[in-house]
Amino acid sequence: MDRIKVETPIVEMDGDEMTRVIWKMVKDRLIFPYIDINAKYFDLHIKNRDRTDDQVTVEAANAIRKYGVGVKCATITPNSERMREYNLKKMWKSPNGTIRSMLDGTVFRRPILAKNIKPLVPTWKEPIIIGRHAYGDVYSNAEINVPGPGRAEIFFSPSDGGETQKKTIKTFTGPGVIQGIHNTNESIRSFARACFAYAFEQHIDFWFSSKDTISKMYDGRFRDIFEEEYRKNWVSKFKDANIEYFFTLIDDAVARIIRSHGGMLWALKNYDGDVMSDMIAAAYGSIAMMTSVLVSPDGYFEYEAAHGTVQKHYYRYLNKEDTSTNSMAIIFAWSGCLRKRGELDGNLNLVNFANMLEESAVETIESGIMTRDLILVAEENINNIKVDTEGFINAIAGRLNKKLAR
Ligand code: NAP
Ligand code: MG
Repeated sequence: MDRIKVETPIVEMDGDEMTRVIWKMVKDRLIFPYIDINAKYFDLHIKNRDRTDDQVTVEAANAIRKYGVGVKCATITPNSERMREYNLKKMWKSPNGTIRSMLDGTVFRRPILAKNIKPLVPTWKEPIIIGRHAYGDVYSNAEINVPGPGRAEIFFSPSDGGETQKKTIKTFTGPGVIQGIHNTNESIRSFARACFAYAFEQHIDFWFSSKDTISKMYDGRFRDIFEEEYRKNWVSKFKDANIEYFFTLIDDAVARIIRSHGGMLWALKNYDGDVMSDMIAAAYGSIAMMTSVLVSPDGYFEYEAAHGTVQKHYYRYLNKEDTSTNSMAIIFAWSGCLRKRGELDGNLNLVNFANMLEESAVETIESGIMTRDLILVAEENINNIKVDTEGFINAIAGRLNKKLAR
């Protein structure tokens, strides 16, 4: 069979540990044998980020701006342990944080469903999709360690020389800590727009939640901008599509989500989305079944798995022990990236390939062939068989080959 020719490049960002091992297997067995594509390669391995003073991350983000679509492997966000482990010059920032702040936008996380993996919440019949704002808040904060008594203030001085606004945060009588966070109306608005557009395109209800009863100005700003966007651009479209926009407090939303049937987009601020998406992923079966895409307001797309580098499995792999690491989210990152490239370029063959790859992957699980994380939660069946990391990818490749031969 001829490989599918793709004219426009994509951006490929390699990463760390177990996901780096899987990355190569997925490329070698499931992508490049079938697709003739120019993947602009950026190596975000922790040592290469260290060597380039993290310039490679910035270059990768710029390349996504140039080519429009990228796919990223999980990467280590260094902490003090990692500094020692890899002998790093600096505690480099999270690459995802860097890329998100350069592209702005919203991260949509969607669980991959298989018939034999039942969600832990029995009422959930449809996927719950998280729309996570990917800009600002604690991810680009300023923090100060307060050593002892003193006054902490927050102030803003306008560039045009207008009057400075000032408030006291706290008059400390002993040690403590303070933090300043921000957001911009522009970023909040593009977050709102991306979510309304996504819900409309997917034909699903749209929930947004924040804590505007406590954070009247900060969270209130989010609520107001969402409401404004809704009134201005979406009321009649949503009505015609028979879908709903619903704002509620985050604690109320959490309680309602647990009792829901799923099938909605749930938009959350940056930190709320970070936490809730891991909970939702676990409840749908495994963190390895959660896909993630960053949609920027300028029309750039970055696909990745929601999980990390699976460090524990990697150490086992280095010890030549068997690993059974689930590659689903990594495969879906690649298929998502290829599908989007195909849609943007009008390359129907590429779109079809992406669909077939995803079908092959889900059908493999539904036939009972699974990695350890899923075997533990799958419906019991005598056909269920636990395979290792490579065996799972090979099983998918076998199915894909059969599908393509038809
Ligand atoms: P993790 O890599 O997501 O793994 C946590 C645990 O979840 C694993 O030990 C494993 O559980 C399970 N798991 C995750 N992915 C799996 C998969 N594909 N198949 C099977 N099981 C899977 O999180 P972490 O260990 O906290 O973080 C490791 C590194 O990843 C850190 O350095 C962190 O900075 C980085 N990280 C990167 C990203 C990103 O680039 N997007 C996101 C999060 C974290 P069991 O051990 O029970 O099998
Ligand atoms: Mg997280």
